[in-house]
Order: sequence, then C-alpha cells, then structure tokens
Amino acid sequence: METCIFCKIANGEIPAATLYEDEDFRVILDLGPASKGHSLIIPKSHVANIYEIPDELAAKAMLLAKKMAGKLTDALDCDGFNIVQNNGEAAGQTVFHFHMHLIPRYKDDHAGV
Ligand code: 5GP
Ligand code: ZN
Repeated sequence: METCIFCKIANGEIPAATLYEDEDFRVILDLGPASKGHSLIIPKSHVANIYEIPDELAAKAMLLAKKMAGKLTDALDCDGFNIVQNNGEAAGQTVFHFHMHLIPRYKDDHAGV
C-alpha cells in the first residue's frame, strides 16, 4: 500500500514517537491524543481491519496490548485503561490500516472514548 500513512509510519519511512518496535509491530504516540499517553499499536504489514488480520497476528497484537497497558500504567500512574479498535467508517475508523488504541484513563479526565 504505497499511499497508506500507517504503512509508512510502521515501517519507519515517516518518523513517529515510537514507544516499542518489534518485527511485526510499531507502537507510537497518537498525534491527536484523547488522554496523556494515548498510543497506537500498528502492524507493519497492511491489513485494513479486524476482518482481514490473520489470526496469529491478531493474537500477537492482543498480547502486545496487554504488555503495553501494563507498561503505560506503571509509567503514567493512570487510574484505568481503554483499549479500542475501530472497524469501518460507521464505527469511527479514519485510517484504514488496522490499529489498536491504548488509552490511559485518569480519574475525572472526561476523555470520552
Ligand atoms: P481511527 O479513528 O482510525 O480509529 O484512529 C486513527 C488515529 O490515528 C486517530 O486517533 C489519529 O489521531 C491518529 N493519527 C492519524 N494520523 C496520524 C499520524 O500521522 N501520526 C500519528 N501519530 N497518529 C495519527
Ligand atoms: Zn497500511
């Protein structure tokens, strides 16, 4: 996908604030954060949504979400955590390359996710 912004970010062609990287994923800070520490798990291979992601990669993404939620909670001392994953325009997806939102929550933050 030559024109996909998350392909370029995940594969390092466009710089982004990276919290974690391995052979399958990059985790970056969201450009328009809903709360302090709002991050995105982005696979390096292009899949548009949950319907397209291979099972093995989906399982790895969930394990990484668990690991990152723990690390972010320790680092930021947040009070709660949302993990959000949008599929399709009607569900609020704006970038059509699968990603998971990691959203630290703070008491009375009104982050509204
Ligand atoms: P969606 O609405 O598709 O679930 O989420 C897309 C997310 O990607 C939004 O939260 C938006 O702020 C974020 N985003 C869009 N473009 C960029 C970008 O170029 N860099 C970063 N770091 N985040 C982006
Ligand atoms: Zn892509």
